[in-house]
Amino acid sequence: MFVDSHCHLNFPELVSQLPQIRQAMQEAQVDRALCICTTMEEFPAVHGLATGYDNFWATVGVHPDNEGVTEPGVQDLVERAALPRVVAIGETGLDYYGMEDRKGGRSVADLEWQRERFRTHIRAARATAKPLVIHTRSASADTLAILREEGEDGPGNRAGGVFHCFTETAQVARAALELGYYISFSGIVTFKNAQDLRNVAAFVPLDRLLIETDSPYLAPVPYRGKTNNPSYVPYVARQIAEVRGLSVEEVAAATSRNFERLFLKEPA
Ligand SMILES: [Zn+2]
Ligand SMILES: [Zn+2]
Repeated sequence: MFVDSHCHLNFPELVSQLPQIRQAMQEAQVDRALCICTTMEEFPAVHGLATGYDNFWATVGVHPDNEGVTEPGVQDLVERAALPRVVAIGETGLDYYGMEDRKGGRSVADLEWQRERFRTHIRAARATAKPLVIHTRSASADTLAILREEGEDGPGNRAGGVFHCFTETAQVARAALELGYYISFSGIVTFKNAQDLRNVAAFVPLDRLLIETDSPYLAPVPYRGKTNNPSYVPYVARQIAEVRGLSVEEVAAATSRNFERLFLKEPA
């Protein structure tokens, strides 16, 4: 019934519990998950999950926060994207959060390498006609600008994709929707202080909505602070159903159809 459109099942705290997690997913009716790649080094493990289980799929990409890792070229991404069960490019994007501490006092200007890396991913996505899984944090203006500069606002072969773990404003959501992108909500939408985000979740068109855990991070209420896993994605669906006045089944059905349309290229 449910699809977790973004999880990191290859991370040690999850992969070490895989049989239990798969059992919990089955009990929670979470029948599919997309395993997200964050470095070229981990791609074989992420891809192995997708080839090992018929209800997992994989992406290829390097997260904007990862430094000191292999920098992919367009061709590196294109080659891996052609492998069986690789359905998207990412996660990629821009992360300007915590310039003082996380980024060691560097400035946004110092992060040109992030923007170059993002452009490489967009070019690979457009070359392969696979959608982008976009991570944007404290960087929405540049994220949107680069997508437009790379042609994602134009006619022709747009890659499209999803703004994952959405935490931006309604205005940013509208801009992403105008580019034809989907919006994915994580457990953050269940957090007490996330009323603004719930308002955004209430207006995103039902045919552009996805749900995710981003596990092992961001466990939804009532598991907030614990290790997250894909079996918790129904809590995200329930919260969205509540703010939209829908049944959880309707949200599960719509987000599953959207997953199939965007990532599996199934007509719906
Ligand atoms: Zn992310
Ligand atoms: Zn992620």
